[in-house]
Amino acid sequence: LWQEVLNSLKNDLSPASFQVWAESASPLSLKNDELLIKVPTKVHRDYWEKNLAPRVLENSYRLYGREIMPAFITEDEVQEELPQEKEEKVEDVVDRSIMLNPKYTFDTFVIGQGNQMAHAAAQVVAEEPGSIYNPLFFYGGVGLGKTHLMHAIGHELLKYRPNAKIKYVSSENFTNDFITSIKNRTSEEFRHEYRSVDLLLVDDIQFLENKVETQNEFFYTFEELYKNNKQIVLTSDRLPSEIPTLPERLVSRFAWGLSVDITPPDLETRIAILRKKAEAERLEIPDDTLSYIAGQIDSNIRELEGALLRVQAYATMNNAEISTSLAAEALKSLKGNGGVVQISILQIQEEVAKYYHISIKDLKGKKRVKSIVVPRQIAMYLSRELTDNSLPKIGAEFGGKDHTTVIHAHEKIQQLLDNDPITQTEVSEIKNLLLK
Ligand code: ADP
Ligand code: MG
Repeated sequence: LWQEVLNSLKNDLSPASFQVWAESASPLSLKNDELLIKVPTKVHRDYWEKNLAPRVLENSYRLYGREIMPAFITEDEVQEELPQEKEEKVEDVVDRSIMLNPKYTFDTFVIGQGNQMAHAAAQVVAEEPGSIYNPLFFYGGVGLGKTHLMHAIGHELLKYRPNAKIKYVSSENFTNDFITSIKNRTSEEFRHEYRSVDLLLVDDIQFLENKVETQNEFFYTFEELYKNNKQIVLTSDRLPSEIPTLPERLVSRFAWGLSVDITPPDLETRIAILRKKAEAERLEIPDDTLSYIAGQIDSNIRELEGALLRVQAYATMNNAEISTSLAAEALKSLKGNGGVVQISILQIQEEVAKYYHISIKDLKGKKRVKSIVVPRQIAMYLSRELTDNSLPKIGAEFGGKDHTTVIHAHEKIQQLLDNDPITQTEVSEIKNLLLK
């Protein structure tokens, strides 16, 4: 992250300014999505806060799909606060847990019938990485908690071993990293990066590219880690043997470990998940309303969360308390009277573009200014919520973006909907326009 921030500054500042302002600053630590940056003097701090802080936000967003807030501390303050902190560890500290979503921990995971095996296996692996279930393979439908459990393993391992090196990637990130390393002739670095970890988490392996080179590289990475008793955790929407593009030798390697499926949660678990979520958001929701919502959505936890959000937004919009009848009202359009309202990604893009007075080209493009980024994320969010399209398909419809970008956009907007009344209103208005 830091390197990226510096790179983006280098392009925009004169060499002298760059030296004065940027090079004198250095990252100290990253906690709860706050990046603590050390600067020489108060003057530097003021300058950073005004001019350079947005760069940190932008770049963290671009790289990780989350905004990491910068905080500044001057040299003197560091002396007072952290007397014997070692400096050379800085980059490590900054990078260690950054790929893990802070919300996806064991604490926030509700155990139920469909996931208890997976949960137990995840805990074992976090405590005894590389020794018992290696690789650990989770499979199951969309939105059932595979990614959540994977991140939870990472967080838990860091509790026991704060210096453990963890890497989380989607199989597409792996492919992209690999291709970039060939293009830039940095294969050495690539191999070092992937083969020196204690825990490698590869999400959605069904999207591993069907090219010999990529699959070979993945195979060797796997072999090297496995040989050194490093833990590997993989997920997919189905069993390895059912992924047509996965080569036989990888399928047979995966069989050395443990494969556990995650199945959709039963009603009781769905209620428990909603209750936990409501508590986390400090929402007052009566039990019968929670049961009602849980009864309406029976397959996918992501959709369950979406329904809760929808109810919440509806209550805010109408300035009403959450009740069962309000929930029924809010969720009505989700189901349609018998027939589901069919909305396309294109309709969503048109409506969002019109609403924010931007072009569809920008909406699908790469510009990183806030006035475009937020509408783009909202359009992706709505595409996920209101259509049946898969994540890769949605990504493709937004100028060929990775499916993880869609996930990040979705999460980002979900966060905003939880906290920001303006976004709540705007999203409901667009939804109403679409559903009309
Ligand atoms: P998958 O990777 O299987 O598609 P995710 O891990 O992304 O699913 O989960 C979708 C959403 O549901 C996430 O917000 C996650 O936190 C939530 N979720 C899934 N399972 C649980 C659970 N057992 N308890 C609480 N939240 C869950
Ligand atoms: Mg996932």
